[in-house]
Amino acid sequence: MTAPAPDTLRRGACPSLSAPMQTGDGLLVRLRPAAPALTADDMLVLADLSRRHGNGLIEITARGNLQLRGLTEASVPRLAEGLAVAGIVPQTGVAIEIPPLSGIDSSEAADAAPVAEALRKAIAAASLTLAPKLAIVIDGGGVLSLAGMAADIRLDAVEVGWRLSVGGDRRTARPVAILAEDRVIAGTMTAIAALAAIGPAARGRDLDVGALAAELGAASELTLSDAPASHPLGIHRVGGENVLGVAPAYGQMQADRLVALVKGLVACGAREFRLAPHRTLLVRGLSGESLADAEACAGREGVWCTDTAPGRSISICAGAAGCASAGFDTHAAADVLVADGRDLLDGSVDVHISGCPKGCAHPASAAVTLCGTVAGVGLVLDGRAGDAPAAVLPVDDLTPAIRRLGTLLRAQRKEGETARNFLDRTAPAALVSAYQGKR
Ligand code: SF4
Repeated sequence: MTAPAPDTLRRGACPSLSAPMQTGDGLLVRLRPAAPALTADDMLVLADLSRRHGNGLIEITARGNLQLRGLTEASVPRLAEGLAVAGIVPQTGVAIEIPPLSGIDSSEAADAAPVAEALRKAIAAASLTLAPKLAIVIDGGGVLSLAGMAADIRLDAVEVGWRLSVGGDRRTARPVAILAEDRVIAGTMTAIAALAAIGPAARGRDLDVGALAAELGAASELTLSDAPASHPLGIHRVGGENVLGVAPAYGQMQADRLVALVKGLVACGAREFRLAPHRTLLVRGLSGESLADAEACAGREGVWCTDTAPGRSISICAGAAGCASAGFDTHAAADVLVADGRDLLDGSVDVHISGCPKGCAHPASAAVTLCGTVAGVGLVLDGRAGDAPAAVLPVDDLTPAIRRLGTLLRAQRKEGETARNFLDRTAPAALVSAYQGKR
């Protein structure tokens, strides 16, 4: 069976198999396998397909999706066929996120997977027109809860059911109602139908929380844990087993290295792989004795496996190495930042290095963005890649400019101060001057 040619992606939509996104290095396809776990063979198939039908560059996104790059109109249908032959079924419809260890983490308050499945079916049956980037989080808690993941609509497991809230992460979302298990799908569908009634671009922030609460029965006061979620990178004890979180440097990996990584981890005992937020791949099946070997294998393939890896808070796109739209080498700039600007990389702020204003790697705002423009590399503070830069330098001046920013942070950051606190109390003009090399 021949898959149909892909449609052109409409603006703001997600680049799925049926609607890949045009980037400077060809078409980009984002996919999330419907199955929560991938076998080693699945991983090897994905690497092979990315090499045969794209340019072999594989990315894991901040939300734990896979991206294959460098595809063409002709090769996308062949990728779809290859996935079908391998039995890897991409998720379709509204993005519903659940903790990556749902159903196997004995410390979770509830298993989010069946709720997600039922909600997915209910949304499909309702045939509503919803915003292309609508995000739903169903957080059952546990070691790798999604407490910090923002969503238009979220459900958090509580003792008496699920708390429905809108427009934020667990701490910031506005609570609507507590839904008992037998009302959770109907109650959540009420909120989703309200979004559809507002219009095809409506997001969680647009909902009238008061009206919804009145309809669903207002949320009684309920204090949810505001403990920060663990970072998926590193070793986790889940029940009686070890789970190792590894992340390709800056979320990107060539297919050949992925193959070497998977084979090396399998030799250490790995038997299952799960995509996770923060560009992470969770590895199951490792014994306590094999963890050190698995970490060494990850290190050999340029993969991070500790949650203190300084590059973990940098989002970069393919850059000049893989995308014709890029104005500079984003990898090289990130390496300079890791070497000379570690004070910025304590995990308290997002840093974005984007080859062009499209900002593929981090559509949201970041504390610091370096962005390729026609005039050079722009510095954007607390903004998106497409925002007007506070200063622009020729590409050749970028490395010393990053080093000057690093020197400023080292000299002026107080003992114990986070990068976020430092940026909050520092005048943007000081950062711009350092970037430009002005006193
Ligand atoms: S943001 Fe990066 S990957 Fe996306 S189009 Fe621009 S240069 Fe290419």
